[in-house]
Amino acid sequence: MAMTVQSVLDEIRDIPGTGDVIPVIDPATEEQITEFTDAGPEAVDAAVARAKESAEARTWSGVPDYDRARILWKVADLIDENSDLLAELESVNAGIPPSQAKVISRVGSEWFRYYAGWCTKIDGIARDVNTGGLTGVESHMHAYTLREPYDVVGLIFPWNGPIFNFCAKLAPALAAGSSTVVKPAEETPLTAHVLTRILAEAGVPDGVVNLINGYGHTAGAAITAHPDVDKVAFTGSTEVGREIVKASAQSNLNKVTLELGGKSPVLIFDDADLDLAIAMAGFGCFLHSGQVCMLGSRIFVQRGVYERVVEGVAALGNNLVLGGPADEGSMIGPLISQKQLTRVLGYLDQGRKEGVELVSGGARLDRTGYFVQPTVATNVDPTSSRLYHEEIFGPIVTILPFDDEDEAVALANNTDYGLAGTVWTQNLGRAHRLAKRLKAGTVGLNCQLQFDHSMPFGGYKQSGWGYEAGKAGIDTYLQSKTVWAQM
Ligand code: NAD
Repeated sequence: MAMTVQSVLDEIRDIPGTGDVIPVIDPATEEQITEFTDAGPEAVDAAVARAKESAEARTWSGVPDYDRARILWKVADLIDENSDLLAELESVNAGIPPSQAKVISRVGSEWFRYYAGWCTKIDGIARDVNTGGLTGVESHMHAYTLREPYDVVGLIFPWNGPIFNFCAKLAPALAAGSSTVVKPAEETPLTAHVLTRILAEAGVPDGVVNLINGYGHTAGAAITAHPDVDKVAFTGSTEVGREIVKASAQSNLNKVTLELGGKSPVLIFDDADLDLAIAMAGFGCFLHSGQVCMLGSRIFVQRGVYERVVEGVAALGNNLVLGGPADEGSMIGPLISQKQLTRVLGYLDQGRKEGVELVSGGARLDRTGYFVQPTVATNVDPTSSRLYHEEIFGPIVTILPFDDEDEAVALANNTDYGLAGTVWTQNLGRAHRLAKRLKAGTVGLNCQLQFDHSMPFGGYKQSGWGYEAGKAGIDTYLQSKTVWAQM
């Protein structure tokens, strides 16, 4: 595949559309690197029509499962072969340091390998049933279930991990046999363009993957409201998640899965391995400048070790090297956009008004690029503080003390979100007790940021509907049909 960074920037610019021209910005330099045109409603209609036609012709779902598996495995190999290009584009567009972007590219290819394996393992159940059902006449029946893909699936995702989000959605949807309409975030269209080319080169037939670029309120909304879209799989904010549900209710009741926001708690007890807990809790709230859904943005510390943890996390934040792809040794990139920068600085102002103490950080970096210092906030009121309750999606962590397990659980669960939670303690009984008591879809016991394509990931409460990853992640793209046969 002969693509370069420059050719991708040029190709995106040339894709026709009928809407606004949208600039693509390098968040580390604030410079425009290319632009593209919002696809417009006719292009969404055409993309859905192509997907529907391919589904009805069984262009993809009719491909023998072992061939679908081979093609998805080939996709994975091509992602690995093109990982330098993908990482470079991800860095310049999403602000992720190149070394981390390469890791993410590898994670993406492994999602395709994992779901390639599921192509040949989709099955239902079979039973002999002696019943006359509603007729009341006993008879011998054979019943079985068929697992069938949705015909057209809309896949919409955010800017915070464009390669990852593309792979996490496309791999299971294609393994299930669906045709797709795919919309990356308007801030980060570049890697989705390359990945779509990779899918075609690997042998995914025309019409099965239809990429649409544009804003959420235009292109995204048109996909979710389209009467021929059977399912929408969405990753993004809880606010937009509600819009997706409304669009489903007002159109064809398409099935919806949602991976939404988080405000995840980290509980550090006084018996924990404190050096490790502090390092992981610090890294686990400042990674990617706080722009990862499952980060631990609320830390709670048992009172006896509270000061030590506050100092440790603040010191870790102060020592992180922020910078763009061109800056030597940068560990953490910028916020994605001016909009996100304004939002995060707004939360810092709000915190100051609330009387929050900013122990470290608290300001924008004095340089070009949307960089904000890693910030530790204490003296936060857990009943009223917006800083404490709302998802900021920036490098700001609140740290509060607690006295005992019950108080820790009450504080941790005092949120509308339920994406993840972490417990640091060497008391095994307590660790497992708290794993049960935390209202979150993922809990780490003496570990943080754990995630794998083989284990289900989803949110409790307002963090989502349904699951990604693992068997649950392909089930979400399959519907079940029960067939009764009179014997
Ligand atoms: P966002 O909700 O603003 O946008 C996400 C996507 O939805 C974008 O592609 C956007 O164009 C599109 N969109 C916006 N309005 C739409 C509409 N009305 N109809 C259809 N599509 C629409 O989110 P964001 O700011 O891009 O991303 C950050 C959010 O994503 C955070 O809340 C974060 O927690 C969440 N997130 C969650 C997970 C998870 O797995 N739970 C993973 C990553 C990010």
